[in-house]
Amino acid sequence: MPDTTTDIVIVGAGIGGLAAAATLRARGMRVTVLEQADRLGEIGAGLQIGPNASRVLYRLGLSDGLAGCALHAQESVRRRWSTGEILTKTTLGAGATAKFGAPYLHLHRADLHKLLLDAATAPAGAGEPVRVEVASHVTGIDDSDPTRPAVLTHDGRTFPGDVIIGADGINSRIRRASGGPTAIVDSGDMAYRTLIPADRAREDEATRWLFDWPAANFWLGDNRHVVVYPVRDMQYVNVVAVVPITDQVRSTAKAEVPAEEMRQHYEGWDPRLTRLLGYSDDRVMAWALNYQEPFTPWSTGHVALLGDACHSMLPYFSQGASQAIEDAAVIAEELAKAERGLQSIPSALSAYTERRAERAAAVQRGAVGNRALFHLPDGPEQRRRDERFREHHKESDISFDWIYAGTPLDDETPLVTAG
Ligand SMILES: Cc1cc2nc3c(=O)[nH]c(=O)nc-3n(C[C@H](O)[C@H](O)[C@H](O)COP(=O)(O)OP(=O)(O)OC[C@H]3O[C@@H](n4cnc5c(N)ncnc54)[C@H](O)[C@@H]3O)c2cc1C
Repeated sequence: MPDTTTDIVIVGAGIGGLAAAATLRARGMRVTVLEQADRLGEIGAGLQIGPNASRVLYRLGLSDGLAGCALHAQESVRRRWSTGEILTKTTLGAGATAKFGAPYLHLHRADLHKLLLDAATAPAGAGEPVRVEVASHVTGIDDSDPTRPAVLTHDGRTFPGDVIIGADGINSRIRRASGGPTAIVDSGDMAYRTLIPADRAREDEATRWLFDWPAANFWLGDNRHVVVYPVRDMQYVNVVAVVPITDQVRSTAKAEVPAEEMRQHYEGWDPRLTRLLGYSDDRVMAWALNYQEPFTPWSTGHVALLGDACHSMLPYFSQGASQAIEDAAVIAEELAKAERGLQSIPSALSAYTERRAERAAAVQRGAVGNRALFHLPDGPEQRRRDERFREHHKESDISFDWIYAGTPLDDETPLVTAG
């Protein structure tokens, strides 16, 4: 009997690439992942995963793993920069779980990355274990056979597949090789990211309330904001502190800088926040916040894009990775139909764009809108925003419900049974 298993080559072992690898494996496809880094892993930082994406993770059988490392967020609170006064809050917790069918999670990125890697590569489980090749910098595509294009690596290796998925981030090589747009938008912002160990912050009455229950707190001010939430069994507080970009970070995209630089940006802010920032390590990482304008299509022939490669966005909806996980669920559904002979691979990849692109674009645009909304200087516009927040308890003109409800899936039954 001829082997009809679909061969997939995924470029990039970030959260998007691994979510796709695990989901495609669970549907019986043969997957190879190529990653340029010498070692697999994620940066030391937190991650919020909305119900729209956590439901995909639960369907993959990750409930036991998530129970060991994810916090169920109870609320998301917006505060005034100077006093910490609550402007509005979104209640999450059990109510959100019931409404959207899955919880809102706070995680350490490395924990989610490991869960996805294990789901993809564990010897037991549905389908063949995914093969992951590190130290494999992809340089381009050989499409001399367009029905079986091949990925080329820096050291001369070739990886042919029935499908190539570029999950290689905002500067995607696969996007460039397949004729996608290359323009990147510089938002003018950068983010300091740090994980603050809980021990000292838990002892301080100014900051110990952060450990009362899992919640995200946002302080909004002139041209900057800060997001804070606990992760990994409340052992750390994750901090994302957004400010106008410096020349140094603009030129290098990311840099390790003294924490004092971050603290100076928030002098005069709510003392509970400044006390917390005082507990950070002496050095923190700063990242340029860039994105792309929405575009389609996300595929040409047998080559498709996924995650930041096709919808990089500002993190002001905390949704980039969640959208990538949604991509994984949908591309796997469409390719499974192709494997059953119900459609061709190019049609499956076009259907994936059709089901995902408009929604991802709305999240991208909403995140840009949140930049203006979050960063208003004190004045009439800020007072109007705060009034609207207080009265309507709304984040913006886009409500959260449509985001958290997720892309409709053809099939909601578990792909893998936990345990
Ligand atoms: C400050 C900040 C906070 C955020 N917070 C959240 C949040 O709370 N929730 C959320 O959902 N999202 C959040 N995001 C967004 C989220 O981090 C990204 O959207 C997500 O990580 C993208 O995953 P990805 O796998 O598509 O791309 P990436 O994480 O960029 O992974 C791409 C992978 O491809 C590899 N690669 C690249 N080029 C090549 C090549 N040529 N050959 C081989 N390998 C290659 C890279 O090494 C990398 O491993 C945040 C982003 C920022 C900046």
